[in-house]
Order: sequence, then structure tokens, then C-alpha cells
Amino acid sequence: MIRFLCSARSSSQYPETEREAVFVGRSNVGKSSLINALYGKIAYVGKTPGKTKLLNFFSVDERYSVCDVPGYGYAEISDKETIDFGEMMEEYFSKRKEIRLCVMIMDIRRTPNADDLDMYDFLVYNNIPCVFVLNKADKLSYAKIEAQKENICKILEVEKDDLIVCSSLKKTDIDVLKRAIEDRLLL
Ligand code: GDP
Repeated sequence: MIRFLCSARSSSQYPETEREAVFVGRSNVGKSSLINALYGKIAYVGKTPGKTKLLNFFSVDERYSVCDVPGYGYAEISDKETIDFGEMMEEYFSKRKEIRLCVMIMDIRRTPNADDLDMYDFLVYNNIPCVFVLNKADKLSYAKIEAQKENICKILEVEKDDLIVCSSLKKTDIDVLKRAIEDRLLL
């Protein structure tokens, strides 16, 4: 069962938990849908990209916490909002010692762009282990999925096993992703 804990902007507002998985991804990549598919309906699924601007914390079965951070790369936000987002993320990643894993979500149809690569560099810099999710696999044929996996592996310089292909819409391989997350978090 997933339980909403709180929304936060700064470290004084973070909830007390022990291990945390943080979910990041470009706006509209299906992050809210994926959290819903993994844990049941609670996270907000929005039609307006960039709408959720705070860190949202949840508890999963009282075993670990999930932090849903705002989607990045939304073109229509102001410079001020971009700075606020950057500061909120810097503070979160530097102060939140409970982070054990980052689940970075991408759209399997798209080549990772500069925003994705910046985020990835930031995670590497902060020494955060990552699982990469290629979502919206229902949109591609098997052959195209394989080709995209290879392409994205090369760009991110990661192994194929680090990528998990799924569809939050069709609920395909959500169980595989959940196991990958929990294996890394709960060991
Ligand atoms: P967020 O902005 O990353 O939280 O994305 P949402 O979960 O709000 O989803 C953005 C849009 O992508 C919505 O229209 C979803 O229905 C759609 N979507 C999410 N996951 C999938 C998926 O696996 N396959 C397809 N085809 N569409 C998806």
C-alpha cells in the first residue's frame, strides 16, 4: 500500500524515513502513471506538464519511501522556475542521506536529450545508483525496442541490464521493475 507523506520544497520539510527511491524524468514521460502502476493510484496523473512543482513523498508498505520530483525539461516554465527547480534538486540530493536509488524514466521512442544527460551526470556526480526505465514500450515493435535499447545504452554508457523496458499504460513488466527497485533498496 502506498501512503502519501507530504510535499516539500526544502530539507526542513522532508519526512523521516529510512530508505528512499527517487523518481525522475522529463515532463510527460509517464512518471505519474508509472508510480500509479507500481504502487496503486495515488500520485497525480496530470494533463498539464510542469504542474507538480514540489517534492512529493510517499511511504510504500511502510518499508521504504518514494520521492516523486517534478518533471524536468518543460519548455514553458520561466527562468525563475528553472532556478527554483535546480536549487530544490541540489538541496534534495545533497542533504537527503536516505536516498538509495534513483529511478530515471525515459520515453523509449526518444533519444536522451541534454536535459536527460544533465540529470544523469548529476546523479553520477552524487554517486546515486540508478535504474533506467524506458517507458511507453507499447508504442514500438519488438525490433524497434531492441534498437532503441542499444542506442540508449551507448548514449548513457550503461549495460543493457541496467535498462528496464515497460509500459505503465499496458502495465507490461511493471513487476520486473518493482523487483529491480526493491532488490536494490531492501538488500
Ligand atoms: P508525467 O508528466 O511524466 O507524470 O506523465 P503522465 O503519467 O502524466 O503521462 C503523460 C502522458 O503519457 C499521459 O497522456 C499518459 O496517458 C501517457 N502515458 C503514460 N505512460 C504511458 C505508456 O506506457 N504508454 C503510452 N502509450 N502512454 C503513456
